[in-house]
Amino acid sequence: MLGARPALATLAERQWDLIVVGGGITGAGVLLEAARQGHKVLLLEQRDFAWGTSSRSSKMVHGGLRYIAQGDVRLTRDALRERERLLRDLPGLVERATYLFPLRKGKFPGRWPMTAVLSLYDFLAGIRDHRFVPRRELLARVPGLDATGLSGAMSYTDALTDDCRLVIRCLLEAARLGGESLNYTQALDARREGDRTQLTVEDRVSGERATLSAPVVINATGAWADRLGAPEPGTPPRIRPLRGSHLFVDPARLPVDDCLTVMHPRDGRPVFVFPWEGVTCVGTTDLDHGDDLDLEASASAGEVDYLLELINSQFPGAALGRQDVLSTMAGVRPVIASDAARKAAAGKPGDRAPSKERRDHAVWQGNGVVTVSGGKLTTFRLIALDALAAAGLLDARAARRARRSNAPMFRPLPEAPLQVDQFLHGNQDDDALIRWMLENEAVVHLDDLLLRRTRLGLLRRDGGAALAPRLQALTGEILGWDQARWEQEWSRYQELRERFYGVPPAERAAA
Ligand SMILES: Cc1cc2nc3c(=O)[nH]c(=O)nc-3n(C[C@H](O)[C@H](O)[C@H](O)COP(=O)(O)OP(=O)(O)OC[C@H]3O[C@@H](n4cnc5c(N)ncnc54)[C@H](O)[C@@H]3O)c2cc1C
Repeated sequence: MLGARPALATLAERQWDLIVVGGGITGAGVLLEAARQGHKVLLLEQRDFAWGTSSRSSKMVHGGLRYIAQGDVRLTRDALRERERLLRDLPGLVERATYLFPLRKGKFPGRWPMTAVLSLYDFLAGIRDHRFVPRRELLARVPGLDATGLSGAMSYTDALTDDCRLVIRCLLEAARLGGESLNYTQALDARREGDRTQLTVEDRVSGERATLSAPVVINATGAWADRLGAPEPGTPPRIRPLRGSHLFVDPARLPVDDCLTVMHPRDGRPVFVFPWEGVTCVGTTDLDHGDDLDLEASASAGEVDYLLELINSQFPGAALGRQDVLSTMAGVRPVIASDAARKAAAGKPGDRAPSKERRDHAVWQGNGVVTVSGGKLTTFRLIALDALAAAGLLDARAARRARRSNAPMFRPLPEAPLQVDQFLHGNQDDDALIRWMLENEAVVHLDDLLLRRTRLGLLRRDGGAALAPRLQALTGEILGWDQARWEQEWSRYQELRERFYGVPPAERAAA
């Protein structure tokens, strides 16, 4: 499984075919597919696995209706096929969900254009799962939804997951195939020497430094990709970091059973309101992220206002306020910049609105590394195959075969008591799940456990405080934490939770 932390010096003595930098879904996918091909591969993550964007997405394993609407049929088809594969291979982790797209008289899109788009969407996925929901049925299913001009909704299906657990699942599967991974290990610098890339790395727990080397290094650092894959001096950055934030809302105040797509009254952007792990999730925003990438991304007061405004316009009786929000979560999309970045680099403002930027991935080489960034959670397997092909670790024929292969991606993991949702809903009160995570999922800090392995820190108003005595006992027994370490971890966790996942107070209106 994801075992004990080895000393970096021992890793430096070993021979690797490939080192992957970045422990989000892209890196985890590359690790898994490389291990499946029989390569000796090591993955390094500077913080916790999925600490970056891959624990902060909208949790949707989907084709992306907006891509099809933008005419990107290929991206949609690929994503839909991957969605169906993940539904088949990861039951319980990737689950089909009903989506409702309310239709209002005189507003775009109407029933028939939506039916045409959804017919194509289902056709590309090889399913037939859409229908019109009449107004009365819709209002019964979504109590409180603004009825003004409502003619009904289009219903279709996509899928939901826990993005962080998807990353961990890839790492566990890779481990079974010999792929190794290490969190809290940062790549500081890469340089090509002869036919190998030398990577200076630092263990962020012990402070130990070492130089690791491999013929190929894949830089899968998402929004951070321009750092290691440093573009030539004078050339503009490849990545346009775009922040997206979500609110987790008390389900008693805003109960929903289906995933709703509703339009924001301010700018007409589609925003999702959906049930996730027992709470209601609302998001996302989409704006340029100018903050320091070394700090965790967090939702601004303005984003919280924007999302509350959406809820209160769509559910006029809800009168939702900050006190109803359990927590917030912000992530930075590693979007491959269009002409906007070039203009920005030349000192002119980018001319493309964030929501108009394309969401596909790109692979490029430079600075001794192969960089892969952009794309989606859903298509991680295809992104990984492209990166391995570009790195010369998969020939074109094998890559084509792998893309088309229908072989199972994951084998059942019988040892793992992976009923995280049962645990979250209080239906599983033994310690088996936490014990498994502490023993097998490389938990280094308490926030790894409470913000990512389980999502207690986001989903519970008390952030999991009620479980603290049990957690203290288990971390003491399994990780050897004494009282002082527990107290240090608890206050670190509380601080992170409040600062980066809390609800920022409303900004005072300008005088
Ligand atoms: C708000 C939002 C909603 C989204 N919703 C969806 C959705 O519903 N469905 C979907 O399919 N996609 C969605 N996406 C897109 C998807 O989440 C991302 O494309 C994906 O998570 C990117 O994964 P990644 O591995 O490339 O990047 P990341 O997850 O950010 O991973 C990169 C990792 O590299 C690490 N790193 C950086 N520098 C170093 C270094 N020097 N050494 C070691 N490690 C390093 C970082 O700590 C980070 O963990 C969404 C994105 C956002 C922001």
